[in-house]
Amino acid sequence: MKTIGMLGGMSWESTASYYKAINEGVKSELGGLHSAKICLYSVNFDEIEKLQHQGKWDETALILAEAAKSVEAGGADFLIICTNTMHKVASEIESNVSIPILHIADATANKLVIDGIKKVGLLGTRFTMEQDFYKSRLVDKFGIEVIVPAENDRVVVHNIIYDELCRGVINSDSKEEYLKIVKRLHEQGAEAVILGCTEIALLIQQVHTEVPLYDTTEIHAAQAVQLAISDMEI
Ligand code: GLU
Repeated sequence: MKTIGMLGGMSWESTASYYKAINEGVKSELGGLHSAKICLYSVNFDEIEKLQHQGKWDETALILAEAAKSVEAGGADFLIICTNTMHKVASEIESNVSIPILHIADATANKLVIDGIKKVGLLGTRFTMEQDFYKSRLVDKFGIEVIVPAENDRVVVHNIIYDELCRGVINSDSKEEYLKIVKRLHEQGAEAVILGCTEIALLIQQVHTEVPLYDTTEIHAAQAVQLAISDMEI
């Protein structure tokens, strides 16, 4: 079995979901007492969040590149960055290690393509919804059309991520807000909605809506399991 390198702590609330999903995935594939081989580096999210909001992405890349080197030295065979947003600096991280990264947008897009989804709504931080690093990967590499909420809805989605979900706060009003935004994206033609922030599934799940939801945490974790237990390479 390959060792999964995890860059986590962004936030630790979602890293806990990853840890559970990966171990459950290995258990369901291999049975018995099998569990995942994991080397986890969990950062202090306070430092990362401040740098993000100051636009100091180069500095976040330095922190995560050092973390990735530690994980590689700890024996990881490949790396997963347990946040959508920080894939903004995925190539800087990758260039500092010799192990490959299983990219969260590729993992998600592969599933969308298999399911025949051509137009998708994207929820995430403002960085993920508004900048190009994530959307362009879905469009250019996979030919999937991406729509995002209107600006006031993007603010709501972003603030709930940082002020509530990353702090472990699950609020029923926020859940209703998110479900309304999912509905609006569907009305605008999205066949499905990507939960493109690794904490969103703590708030809304498929049982709450008929619009198909693609939870990036679950999808990324499941593909990491397949990669770890098979001869597959990235
Ligand atoms: N976990 C979130 C994401 O998937 C947001 C936290 C962060 O900024 O890394 O984008």
